[in-house]
Amino acid sequence: MPRRRQAVSLPRLWAPWRSGFITAKKPPRRCIFCLAQANHEDQAHRVIARGRYAFALLNLYPYNNGHLMIAPHRHIGELDRLRPAEWAELLTLSQRLVRRLRRTLRPHAFNLGLNLGRSAGAGLPGHLHLHVVPRWDGDTNFMPVLAHTKVMSQSLDELYHLLRDGRG
Ligand SMILES: [Zn+2]
Repeated sequence: MPRRRQAVSLPRLWAPWRSGFITAKKPPRRCIFCLAQANHEDQAHRVIARGRYAFALLNLYPYNNGHLMIAPHRHIGELDRLRPAEWAELLTLSQRLVRRLRRTLRPHAFNLGLNLGRSAGAGLPGHLHLHVVPRWDGDTNFMPVLAHTKVMSQSLDELYHLLRDGRG
């Protein structure tokens, strides 16, 4: 009998708290980006920055501490359907938030990227989003031993207050 669930693309970082997301039986009913965008309870949805065409929120299932996502307001999955102003704002927000993360969490490096399509690792392929993942020297190597403690010790609430708009 074939296994029901094959491993989804393995994250580079060890992130066991993502298992709730990866093994969730049902996908969320509504797009979490559309929900967060339309709802103005920013803290509840961990929305940390809003622009005219795009906004940013914390990833509830982070690969690393401070993992953010920046998405256009419109529900679109294809890069070539983004309007120039939307693409420009995704990039402007990413610059602003990289600066903010550098100042608050003091990472050594960053990964920024788009997963376009489910086969490329997109968990929510219908609504394009740019990942911003802070990195620290050795976080891959020491993840199983140290980072779990480190990541979990900084709650999403705490991160939200550190990174939300109005903090520069
Ligand atoms: Zn959406």
